[in-house]
Amino acid sequence: MKLKVFLAVFACKLTIKLLRLLGRGGTAIPGKIALRICPDLLFQLAKDVKCVVVTGTNGKTTSSRIIEEIYVKAEASYFANRSGANLINGITSIFIENSTLTGKPKKENAVIECDEAASKEVCRLINPAVVLVTNVFRDQLDRYGEVSGTLENILIGIKNSPRAVVCLNSDCSLTASIAEQIPNRVIFYGVDVPIYKNPVSEVSDAPHCIKCKHEYEYSYRTFGHLGGFCCPDCGYKRPEPQVSVTDILSTELSFTKVRVQVFGEDDVITINLPGGYNIYNAVGALAVSEAVGFRRMLAKDAIASFTCGFGRMEEFDLGGHSARIILVKNPAGANQVLNYLAGLSAETVFVCCLNDNSADGKDVSWVWDANFEKLADMSELIPEIYVSGIRSGDMAVRLKYAGIDEDKLRIFDDYDELIDAMKNQSLPVIIMPTYTAMMDLRAKMSTAFGGKEFWE
Ligand SMILES: [Zn+2]
Repeated sequence: MKLKVFLAVFACKLTIKLLRLLGRGGTAIPGKIALRICPDLLFQLAKDVKCVVVTGTNGKTTSSRIIEEIYVKAEASYFANRSGANLINGITSIFIENSTLTGKPKKENAVIECDEAASKEVCRLINPAVVLVTNVFRDQLDRYGEVSGTLENILIGIKNSPRAVVCLNSDCSLTASIAEQIPNRVIFYGVDVPIYKNPVSEVSDAPHCIKCKHEYEYSYRTFGHLGGFCCPDCGYKRPEPQVSVTDILSTELSFTKVRVQVFGEDDVITINLPGGYNIYNAVGALAVSEAVGFRRMLAKDAIASFTCGFGRMEEFDLGGHSARIILVKNPAGANQVLNYLAGLSAETVFVCCLNDNSADGKDVSWVWDANFEKLADMSELIPEIYVSGIRSGDMAVRLKYAGIDEDKLRIFDDYDELIDAMKNQSLPVIIMPTYTAMMDLRAKMSTAFGGKEFWE
C-alpha cells in the first residue's frame, strides 16, 4: 500500500513539474494519473488534514477565497485548490502537491472548492470537518435536468461527511431542506432583508414546495428564489439563521457595508466586493468561520480585505480606467450582474462574451432566461455594449430583442480587437463572459495589462 502511495505521489509530482516546464498549468491530468496508480489515494492523503469543503451552484470560488483569507489572517497552515480545479482529479493533484513523497500532509488544513456532482465522492474520501453549501440554482449545463439532481448529489456528499458541521443557506428552499435529512450539526446563514431596491424580475428555479409541491409564499425576496419562503400548505419555511445580514447599510461600486447578527451578537462588516451575491458569499464564510472556531474578528478582517481574481470581479487597469470581469454560468448569475450594473451611478461600457464550448454549456438559449431587458432601462448610463465570443451573433440577437438600440452594439470576432476597443475609450468596463470565454479573454488581458497565470 505504502509503495502504491509513493508511486502515485511521485508520478503526480513529476507530471506537475513537466507540465510547468512546458508552460502549462494543467491540474487535472497529474491527479488522474495518480488515481490510476492508487485509487484510494485521496483518502490516504486527506485523513490527517482538517478540510472545509465548499459546494453549491453559484459563489463557490468567491466563498472559498474569503475562507482562505480567514486562514491567512489566523496564520494557520493550509492549502486550497485555487485554480478552479474542483473535480476529483484536480483536488487529488492539490493534495499531492501539499504532501511529502510518502504521503504525509505538509499543511494541517485545506479549503476545497468542490463541484456539486463531484461532492458526493470527494466528501466520502476526505471526510471534511466543515461543509458549506452556497445555494442550488439551475445551471446551464443541466438545462433540461432538474435542480433536484444537484441537490441529491450534495445531500449524498454530506451524508458521507459524518463529522462535518454543515453550513446551509437558509434563504434557499432547496439548500435549507438538507438539514432535516442529516444528523450533523447545522449552522444556517442568510440575509433577513431585500438586497436591491429595484431588482430584475426573474424566473424562480424553485417556485414550488420541495415537500408538497404547493407554491411558496415570500415575506421578502433577495434574488432568484432566495428569500423568506414559506409553504402555506405544509408549513415548510425558511429556517431562522444563526448568522445573518440584518441590514444593508450601503452598496458601493467596489464594496458593500452590512449589519450582521452572529449567534445573537450585532456587528457591522464591510465586504470587499460589490454585488448582492457577494453578501451571501461573505455571510456563508462567516458561518464557516464560526464552525471552525476562529475568532470573529479574523473573519470580519478577512471579509473586508480579501481579493478574488480569476474572473470574479477581477479588476484590470486599462491605463487610467478599469475593467472588471464577472464570470457568469447561468441566468441567475447574469441577472445578478444586471442588478449590479443597475446600481452603478457612473457611465459604463458593458461587454458580453458568449461561448458554447462544453464547459460553458452547449446550449446558449439560457441567455433568453436572463433579464437583459433591464439593460434597455439603463440606456443613459451604458452608452456602448460590446459583444464577442463564439456565439456573439446569438448574444447580439438577444440584446436586440431586449430593446437595445442597434447603434449601441459593437460585435468583435477577435479578442485582440475587443481589448483594443476597451482600451481606446475612457469609461470603466464591466465584462460578463461565460467560462471558456473568460479563460481566453483573461489570458490575453493578463498579457496586455499584467496579471497572474491561473495556476500561480
Ligand atoms: Zn409544502
